[in-house]
Amino acid sequence: MQLLEQKICKEGKVFEGDVLKVDSFLNHQIDVGFLCRLGEELHRLFADCGVNKILTIEASGIGIACITAQFFHCPVLFAKKSKTVNIAGNLWTSRVHSYTHNTDHDVVVSKSYLGAGDRVLIIDDFLANGSALEALIDLCRQAGAEVVGAGIAIEKVYQGGGEMIRRKGVRVESLARIASMDTEKGIRFC
Ligand code: 5GP
Repeated sequence: MQLLEQKICKEGKVFEGDVLKVDSFLNHQIDVGFLCRLGEELHRLFADCGVNKILTIEASGIGIACITAQFFHCPVLFAKKSKTVNIAGNLWTSRVHSYTHNTDHDVVVSKSYLGAGDRVLIIDDFLANGSALEALIDLCRQAGAEVVGAGIAIEKVYQGGGEMIRRKGVRVESLARIASMDTEKGIRFC
């Protein structure tokens, strides 16, 4: 999506460790009008998939997920980062390796809000190694929910997560696809 690529070129900042900061419109300050355009495009891509729920992960996926959900007229469920053990057994749980913090943690969703019969569109801000997306797909599998696909704002293609998930047969659509990124040479799109 050219609009997003242009915005990334203008406002994105590349940091050591393969981290792209887009804090001016997506990850800290949120440009609601701009995200609406992304939500609209994600809706166009998945409009005929019978989506009845959007699933994302806290915290940075929530903004774009909520804006996208307005076009689907469906609720957003966000997986929460959990430190407590699921003693009551009322949660679906999966493990994520955090790309930006380099730590492992569990993410959970209530069994009350995700189950068989749900047709889920997963939305996230970034796709890097694919751990977050894998965990969200795993939560859906446990719940017996159908994943219709994943809509991602920015995929760092060279990190391989997208390819790994697509090879598993999941449809992944990314609005901006970064082929390479460098603090000096900048960003190159696919
Ligand atoms: P993955 O699990 O695919 O390795 O990483 C995806 C998650 O890590 C996303 O939910 C996002 O929050 C975070 N992430 C990965 N790469 C970047 C990046 O370059 N910039 C930012 N801001 N977040 C990233």
